[in-house]
Amino acid sequence: MIIAGITGGIGSGKTSFCKIWEDEGVEVIYLDDFAKELMVSDQELIKQIKNTFGDESYYPDGTLNRKYLAAEAFEKGRVSELNALVHPALWKKLDQMITEKREQGLPLLAIEAAILLNKGRPDRVDSVILIESDRDEQIQRVKKRDGISEEKEILSRLNKQPDFSNLHHLADHVIYNNGSLEELQQKALKLLDQLTETD
Ligand code: ATP
Repeated sequence: MIIAGITGGIGSGKTSFCKIWEDEGVEVIYLDDFAKELMVSDQELIKQIKNTFGDESYYPDGTLNRKYLAAEAFEKGRVSELNALVHPALWKKLDQMITEKREQGLPLLAIEAAILLNKGRPDRVDSVILIESDRDEQIQRVKKRDGISEEKEILSRLNKQPDFSNLHHLADHVIYNNGSLEELQQKALKLLDQLTETD
């Protein structure tokens, strides 16, 4: 099984790229969604979050109190504390899932993750695909997608991310997404062919 990791900055087009692959039958794990799911299902992680950030981190019905936790983490500068709890649990669960998929004989598994290269190139990924867009494109797309009028808000999110243009050396493929969605589709399908072709 080939494991492809898809990464890039906000609004670069990671999800759009992965949706094109999904339409071709590729199984994609969106790491953000995976983490959100884990934060309400992994009992050990829930306990650790409550111990560190308080019981208020969860509502009595077990759902996450996002507003409270975001305020604790982002406004009080405790993001790294939260990440230190969530990330190890996340990678552990992901590795379990990879093993399951391998046993099921899946030919290709894609993992979409903005944080993929945060600690260098992860061993578990065979092919790193970096989606790159001009900064202005990223800002305009996120503005439109999320209905944000304030550029400031997007810039602050962008500035918290690594500069992906400096991470090309960690990628096997760089996909430039400054053109149309059709162009992105062509590039995505070409790369999919390349990765899955057998002779
Ligand atoms: P995030 O990290 O914020 O989740 P992302 O990298 O997954 O972002 P997408 O959600 O795929 O980015 O793209 C951001 C927005 O830009 C979406 O609304 C998407 O439809 C649009 N978009 C992506 N690529 C293009 C393109 N080439 N042309 C026009 N719109 C695009």
